[in-house]
Amino acid sequence: MMASTTFLGLGAMGCALAMAALDAERPVVVWNRTSHRAQRLGEHGAAVAATVEQAVTGDGVIVACLFDHRSVHDVLDPVAARLSGRTLVNLTTTTPNQARELATWAATHGIDYLDGAIMAVPAMIGGPGSALLYSGSATAFEQHRSLLDGWGESSYFGTDAGLASLYDLAILAGMYTMFAGFTHGAAMVGSEGVSATEFATRAAPFLAAMTGSFADTAAIIDARNYAGDGQQSLEFTQGALDTIVQASIDQGMNAEVLRPVHDLVRRQIAAGHGAQGFDRIFEELRITR
Ligand code: NDP
Repeated sequence: MMASTTFLGLGAMGCALAMAALDAERPVVVWNRTSHRAQRLGEHGAAVAATVEQAVTGDGVIVACLFDHRSVHDVLDPVAARLSGRTLVNLTTTTPNQARELATWAATHGIDYLDGAIMAVPAMIGGPGSALLYSGSATAFEQHRSLLDGWGESSYFGTDAGLASLYDLAILAGMYTMFAGFTHGAAMVGSEGVSATEFATRAAPFLAAMTGSFADTAAIIDARNYAGDGQQSLEFTQGALDTIVQASIDQGMNAEVLRPVHDLVRRQIAAGHGAQGFDRIFEELRITR
């Protein structure tokens, strides 16, 4: 008989992961700090454990999807001694160093540790477009591949447990700044009574098309050659940003979302790189100031 998979943490994401495992007809044990959140999974066939100790009694893989790094220790430290020989898949969002710390902690207790990052919202789990990134134990990734693939497309980045998280947070850095920029644009047109919904129909196709140039930008960055074709130099970009900032101020808004980009461009020009392409800001971003 297939060993039960234990799910620790039944928030929005933990519930979706456990439900996908139940849908795949896997035996499932669930635990949550606040017990009522386990009820719906129990009605769908999960065994509901009253304590973490009870939840980790079997010998199947343990999946943690908790709030943060601290909560993973809060939940697992008290039972660590009895987890030797078990596999832990931690899908809690952490920094790369926190993932590495957990991998070291797991090794100390004889636990096989696979760190994961979820590139999806709960409603997407098990459906198209859901992707999960993994790093840490290659054995755990291979042995539990069918469980992992049930949540979305699985990619493995190597034995350094911090890599999945590094990719995750790097992608999210782009997402948050893009959404902040979109929101700024919505406020600009909103100052003249245009709805954000109407604005989205104009902005989305253009921004989607612009992501098509990531590969070209990446090639420039990888070659560290920012000479470019002169069309989008730092000086050109400064002029564009000056205009956008002025227009925002004229519309009675603050332009603080744009300020960090504007400052990066200005500093690169001041350092004598004005004729080079915008991508040269990479040289400043890659080092701690
Ligand atoms: P929720 O806030 O819905 O759930 C958080 C879970 O953590 C709950 O089960 C909560 O228990 C538990 N928890 C928090 N602190 C502790 C603690 N000290 N001890 C024990 N349990 C604790 O979050 P999500 O389910 O949405 O997210 C879970 C993880 O998944 C996060 O790391 C998040 O970044 C990641 N993630 C979420 C995505 C999303 O779209 N939701 C997308 C990608 C990743 P209780 O119910 O008792 O409060």
